[in-house]
Amino acid sequence: MRKVYLDYSATTPVKEEVLKEMIPYFTEKFGNPSSLYDIGLESKDAVTHAREQVAALINARPQEIYFTAGGTEADNWAVFGTAEKFKEKGNHIITTKIEHHAMLHSCAFLEKEGFDVTYLDIDKDGFIDLRQLEEAITEKTILISIMLVNNEIGTIEPIKEAAAIAKKHGVLFHTDAVQGLGNVAIDVKDMGVDMMSVSSHKIYGPKGSGALYIRKGVNIDNYMHGGGQENRRRAGTENLAGIVGFGKAAQLARINFDKHVEHCSKVRNHLKDRILAEIPDTFVNGTMDKRHPGNLNITFKYIEGESILLLLNQFGISVSTGSACSSASLEPSHVLSALGVPVEMIHGTVRFTVGDFTTMEDVDYVVDNLKTIVAKLREISSVNAKKGW
Ligand SMILES: *Cc1c(COP(=O)(O)O)cnc(C)c1O
Repeated sequence: MRKVYLDYSATTPVKEEVLKEMIPYFTEKFGNPSSLYDIGLESKDAVTHAREQVAALINARPQEIYFTAGGTEADNWAVFGTAEKFKEKGNHIITTKIEHHAMLHSCAFLEKEGFDVTYLDIDKDGFIDLRQLEEAITEKTILISIMLVNNEIGTIEPIKEAAAIAKKHGVLFHTDAVQGLGNVAIDVKDMGVDMMSVSSHKIYGPKGSGALYIRKGVNIDNYMHGGGQENRRRAGTENLAGIVGFGKAAQLARINFDKHVEHCSKVRNHLKDRILAEIPDTFVNGTMDKRHPGNLNITFKYIEGESILLLLNQFGISVSTGSACSSASLEPSHVLSALGVPVEMIHGTVRFTVGDFTTMEDVDYVVDNLKTIVAKLREISSVNAKKGW
């Protein structure tokens, strides 16, 4: 059976060039980067090289890149490290209703500890309101965290403008750029952010590897305690092969950026155009302007996204409903709720995300099967449709 993977925002396959670069670091180049003999020093050089590669992708200085065990740890570090450091100054954090759970659940934890968190709304296109942001700032605000690209609807938030507002009020600004990395142009200096979370496995690198960019001069508390790794700011023996793989993936993402974006948008737009033209009662969630080049989020009225997912799976096609992280629960997606999509429509929503290995033929195969599946499911649920939803 044909296999079509359309869930690149959940994770990506490790590219062959990346894997090839990693393999020696499991075997003959296994030295601990902190050791002072040759194979230790070689490992240290490999980490240094990867740090330069990741820094180059976001125009940071290598010393501003701190490797972590992924995007989740980077988000947790930014939130808890700032809260711990500045809790005497204030207990107020501003974020948005559409953040990844790595951010939302970290903030929820702090609320239990006595912090106040403001969750900004988004408009019908999926964008935050900069005026609402500025009005939410108080003298107790110690952190503003707004994601660069949303993982469900792909919208690109106005980070440069938001960071400028934070700076004007003397508040630290963090952005979760996990979905943005490699998919939108990122320049931390131009954007003016203080901290940025990135992850390797969303850009064809290995899982369990990521980084927090911390601008030089920004002082937050450490999150992992132990040895002196990562310039004494993130303890724990380095995930050597994972870091090497992340570095290579970052290098490839930088070199292939234009080609990647062009390819993804071409394939994604073909998918969108065919679905909207050939399957009635469907609509796209979030604006198509300022959007992740590979993201398409579609509501199929009158049916359940879960059913579509399971039937597509039978044809070897992988997609997700809402966000992958909420797939274990039937909670309606918090992002689509914030967007104002009615609950019954949220349940009929599927996220398709394409990537470097998706072809036009893949898309045609998906749409051909999707047409049949949607028609069949609608026939079954026509009773519900007559009820008016
Ligand atoms: C995937 C993702 C994360 C989590 O990153 P991991 O490396 O999987 O821990 C955080 N934020 C966003 C927006 C993501 O898409």
